[in-house]
Amino acid sequence: MSMNPQQIIDILRKLQAIDDEIRDVRSTRNRMVSNLEKLEAVLETRDTQLNEMRNKLSEAETWHRKKSVELEEEREKLNKAKAKLNSVTRSKEYVAVNRELDNVRRNIQTREDEVEKLTLAIAEFRSTIEREDEKVRDLRVAANAEAESNRDRLGGMDARIEAVERRRNEVAEGIEKSILKRYRKVFDARDGTAVVGVVDEDACGGCNMVVQPRFVEAIMRGTSLVQCPFCSRFLYIDSRSDQDGQPELAA
Ligand SMILES: [Zn+2]
Repeated sequence: MSMNPQQIIDILRKLQAIDDEIRDVRSTRNRMVSNLEKLEAVLETRDTQLNEMRNKLSEAETWHRKKSVELEEEREKLNKAKAKLNSVTRSKEYVAVNRELDNVRRNIQTREDEVEKLTLAIAEFRSTIEREDEKVRDLRVAANAEAESNRDRLGGMDARIEAVERRRNEVAEGIEKSILKRYRKVFDARDGTAVVGVVDEDACGGCNMVVQPRFVEAIMRGTSLVQCPFCSRFLYIDSRSDQDGQPELAA
């Protein structure tokens, strides 16, 4: 496999373009997945909260039943005491039964207040739960729709990543392993950008340091594969970048 530096840098530029594409698609894909996961997590939290609320409601309802039974018992006591009052003859006993009646009436009043408060609280709580339940259901519908539409897009992205990776392997096969290794090393060390153009005639497009003229000349002539002395990125000169400021890649 013998190729000149110009051919090597051309291949490295293709690799860089492919790697950029892979990174873009992957990051879009990851964003979509993580948005869905966040939405799912929110739904799960709200579901848990809703269940807790339902448990509390059922506790309150149990308590309400207990208090209602107690109230009924007090009312029975009242009836019994009233009946007793009708049958007493001695005034001493009459006073005692009357006192008992007063006690029972007070108890009934207290119980009625309790039950009424509980009834109101339960009704309010129930409607809060209904509202929350509706919100969670709407959210669930939205999340499902999102997941549904994303499924197709995700599938498309996976297919695209696969195709691009195949293309990458083909391109990578056309170059020496040692150079590929150097590319990978710079790529990893320099945040995914291993190949950059020379900008402003003599500066590295990656780190912006001015590169010595002899390097620039070597790149222009295609006599050697040049890495920036400061950041190690592979350098190229794109003649077409003068026209629109944007480097274009040879297909
Ligand atoms: Zn540099």
